[in-house]
Amino acid sequence: MMELRDERLSLIEAKYFPVVFRSHGMAHRAVIGIGGNVGDVAARFGRVVAYWQRNGRVRVLKTSPLLKNPPFGFLDQPDFLNAVMLVETNLDPLALIRYLLWVEKRFGRRRTFKNAPRTLDLDIIFYDDMRLKTMRLEVPHPKFHERDSVMIPLRFLKDGKV
Ligand code: ADP
Ligand code: MG
Repeated sequence: MMELRDERLSLIEAKYFPVVFRSHGMAHRAVIGIGGNVGDVAARFGRVVAYWQRNGRVRVLKTSPLLKNPPFGFLDQPDFLNAVMLVETNLDPLALIRYLLWVEKRFGRRRTFKNAPRTLDLDIIFYDDMRLKTMRLEVPHPKFHERDSVMIPLRFLKDGKV
């Protein structure tokens, strides 16, 4: 698939990762980062995509494969799985982040401490070509350049760049 020089990293294929779906002509495009390291993460990510394809607030256009990668910050926890998804939505950026935080909760996320293990993390990496910095939301995501967990999966969305 793609050569990864760091042996702590590996690419994994799972249901809907990767996948391509047709557009329904919604107004905006965003790149969402998805991550987790508690329980059956790949199955949970698949359920999030299936949920969005039914529910229509966010629709997935394209996903990357999953990247297995070690934790940072708090190290005594399982490896993470991460992917990125090109999506379309009619939600504005603040409504989108509020909605994503709600979806995290719906899929079992409990907030404990910074960099803690999590069932589901949904981050907005890009939203159209917008730049925005508020207390609740910064886009593009301020840390995305530094993270293998975003930069490596992003290579798979190349031709879907927003
Ligand atoms: P992290 O994703 O950095 O591990 P959290 O998922 O706990 O941290 O997010 C903490 C807060 O970051 C959220 O409540 C959200 O309001 C804020 N935030 C700011 N910018 C973004 C963004 N681009 N994507 C996701 N959350 C963001
Ligand atoms: Mg987050």
